[in-house]
Formats: sequence, structure tokens, C-alpha cells
Amino acid sequence: MNSMFSKERKVVTRFAPSPTGFMHVGGVRTALYSYLFARKHGGEFILRIEDTDKARQVEGSIEHIQETLKWLGLDWDYGPDKPGDFGSCIQSERLETYLTFARKLVAKGLAYPDPYTPEELQAFREEAKRENRPFLFRDHRPEEMGEWDEKSTLRFKVPDIRRYEWHDEVRGDLDAGEEALDDFVLMKADGYPTYNFAHIVDDFHMGVTHIMRADEFISSTPRFLSLYEALDIEPPKFVTLPPILGTDRKKKLGKRDGAKDVMEYQEEGYLPEAFLNFLALIGWNPGTDQEIFTKEELIEAFDLDGIQTGGGAFNEEKLQWTNREHLLRLSDKDFRDFVDKWLPEDVRALPQFSEERLMRLLPVIRERVHTGRDIETAAQEGEYDFAFTQPTVEREMLKWKNDDDVKDALPRLQKVAEMLASLPEESFGEAAKEVIWPYAEKVGKGEVLWPLRVALSGRERSPDPFAIIDIIGTAEAYARVQRAVNVLLNA
Ligand code: GLU
Repeated sequence: MNSMFSKERKVVTRFAPSPTGFMHVGGVRTALYSYLFARKHGGEFILRIEDTDKARQVEGSIEHIQETLKWLGLDWDYGPDKPGDFGSCIQSERLETYLTFARKLVAKGLAYPDPYTPEELQAFREEAKRENRPFLFRDHRPEEMGEWDEKSTLRFKVPDIRRYEWHDEVRGDLDAGEEALDDFVLMKADGYPTYNFAHIVDDFHMGVTHIMRADEFISSTPRFLSLYEALDIEPPKFVTLPPILGTDRKKKLGKRDGAKDVMEYQEEGYLPEAFLNFLALIGWNPGTDQEIFTKEELIEAFDLDGIQTGGGAFNEEKLQWTNREHLLRLSDKDFRDFVDKWLPEDVRALPQFSEERLMRLLPVIRERVHTGRDIETAAQEGEYDFAFTQPTVEREMLKWKNDDDVKDALPRLQKVAEMLASLPEESFGEAAKEVIWPYAEKVGKGEVLWPLRVALSGRERSPDPFAIIDIIGTAEAYARVQRAVNVLLNA
């Protein structure tokens, strides 16, 4: 039975989305697992567009799907832009192929034109409903099978009504019976094949070895198996992926849990690799404690054994954490490029803005953010202004909580100004700390460092004074402390 999958057979997987406008998290995870498995085994990954339901198609979706996978770095070997020996990867461009297979079934007496009008079908359905039994087309199979004109609905004549047993690489041995078998539609009257028919023809034609897809297809598997048999096709391996649940783990992730189009995560400033890392671990367990993976590490570690049967929860906090961990691991150059994308123009327009200061600010930015959007928000809230502009110091803010009067800070700031002035030009946080810290230890840390920090940043909350001096340098720090001294003197 498994001869087709002997060692020398190359692994071929596919991601087969329908172009209905939205790339949801579940779909992208299917793409990811299919991709990882193909890459791990040196095989091929196909992006196939299943556009045979023209009513559901949304303009621009095919581009959107490709854009999403490109952003995530899930490159395909064959896709809408790259046909294979098997032809196009867009189902609507493969109609000849489906016709060939449909004719084969007709010739074998295993397919026949549907003789009924939609109204007649509707009447059968209603009758079944009234009698409280499931509607099965095979109960209405005509005695005389007409000639198929290749333009009308063609149905499969399901040859063998029996129980089917099959093996799923994740779920193990499964079986289902007659209730799932019916004379389902192969070709529709609009000339397009159904999903049930087209995917079987395509997977065969494209040499697909492993089908990874959601659990909603399990109940249809007996139909697929009966069609594989009728076409003399050995089925690929079935790999059923667990559902992605909402954060509450109760039901499948839906819009209410914040399920978004995946490109919205790009817009929020998530790194593609962090997003892949996060997705990979919803429903797959690497068998180790490792939580942070690069794409290459995922390829290396991925295996079917680690795919879970039960659903995994989509947890946005975990996503943020994962993104932060990836941001912390970026090289200085890559983090710099990331910040460049997210830092608003207003910040660059500040009077003391310079590339050098920005470079010095990077560790401070990196320390605090989870996403690109966080950088933008922090900047808009003025959190980085201290690096590029002299702050306006509010007199009352200079008062340390243990002091009686704001003026108590004056001699300390004057002393600090003196110390800063004594340092060589081009010195930064460490040099400042060396002279100021022992003084602060002696006089009181809050007493010295609080007004110093406010003098440097103008804010209640900011990085510590030495981190600020590390960015602006001691000369600028001196100028700012002098300004605060003047604020106190001029009152
Ligand atoms: N076009 C199907 C869907 O979007 C694909 C299912 C499959 O992978 O076979 O759900």
C-alpha cells in the first residue's frame, strides 16, 4: 500500500487556500507546517489556488495570499506565478485536467449527469427533512444514466457503500461509514469542478505526498477514499491539524477573540519570524523546552510526531512575548532598521536629532517594546524626546519626595553641574556615574538622582540619569542641569 511513499519518493506538500479575501491564522499555520515539513525533507512546497467557487472569490485575494506568505518567508516551489510540469497552480486554469479525469470516470460508468432540476433537488431535500432522515442523492440515483454533455452537473456514482478505515498521521486509525458516502457532485454546471473532486485530481497530478489540513475534512474522508479508489489513485498521507482555539480554549478562534487577517500583524510591527515561531507552537510540541526558534531551527526541529491532536490556544500575550524575544535577539543593525521603519518623522524633526544619538538610544528602545507599534506609540507619547530635545523642566517636579522644599535640590544640582563640567568632552554615562554616584551615595540617592533625572528628561518617568547621559553626552547633560538650576534660581 505504501509503495508510493518509499524512501526515494520526494516529499511534496501543498497549501491550498481558496481566494476568499482573508488570510486567517489557521490557514497560515497550515501553510507553515506544510512548508516546514517539505523543507525538512528536502521536498517541495506548492501554493495552489482553489478558485473553483467563483461566487466566493474576492478580487485581489490571490495577490494577498502571496503577499502574506512572502512576508512570512514561506517561499513556494510552485505557485500561481510558477507553474510546474503539471501545469498551472490555479485551479481555474486546470479545467482540462479535471475534464480528463471526469471523462475517465464517465467511461468507467462511475459518473453520470445529474438529471434533476434545482427545484426537484430541493423537493427531495424537503421530503427527507419532513421524514426526519438525512438527504442522500444516491437514494435518487436514476435508473437510466444519460450522456454527459460536459456542460451540466456531473455526479460521482459512489460504487461501494461501506465503512472506510484509514490512517491519519496525527489522529491514528480512523473510520467512518456509509452515512458519509453519497453521489456527490464532481463537475458543476458552470464548468468548474468541486473541491471534493479537484483537490484529489490535483494532489495526484502534482505528486503531493502529505495533505495537511484542518479537522473539518475528516468527516468527508470516506468520500475522498471512494473517489481515490474509483480513479485508481493511491491516497497521499493525511495529516490532520488540531484546531486553533480562542484564548479561553473553549471554541475555535473567531473574530470575537481578535482573529485578524495575518497582514494586520505586520501592520502592528510583528517580525515575520516571531509570528512563525508563535504559530508553530500552537498545536506542535518540539519535545524540548525551547520556545524561541528561527525559521531554520523550526525546519530542523519540525516533525509530525509533535503535532497534537487537541486544539491549541491563540494567546496574543504569548505572541507579544515571542516578538519581544525575537527583537532582543536582532543584531544591532537589524534592530536599527526595524526602528527606522517605526520611528515617526516628528522625532527626526526634533532639534537635537542625529543619527549618532539615535544609535545610542537603541538599547533604551529595545529594552521596553514588544512590537513596532509600541515604538511608534512611545515616540508619540514623547518617551524618546529627551534624547533629541532639551526638556522643559517643571519646577515642582524637581522636588524629591523626602525634601521639604524644591529648593533643597539646588545645591545638589549645582554640585552635579560642576562634576559634569569637569569631565572631558565626549564622555558619557559611565564617566558621569563614576563621579556622581559616590556623591549620591553620600548625600542620598533620591536626593541627587531624582532632580538630576528630571533635569535631563523633564519627565516623571524616564530611563535612569546615567542611561540618559549615555545618549546625550556629558556636555549636553551639563547644559540641561544648568537650565534646571536656573529654573530654581529664577523663581
Ligand atoms: N481550499 C480548501 C480550503 O481553503 C483547502 C483544503 C485542503 O487543504 O485540502 O479550505
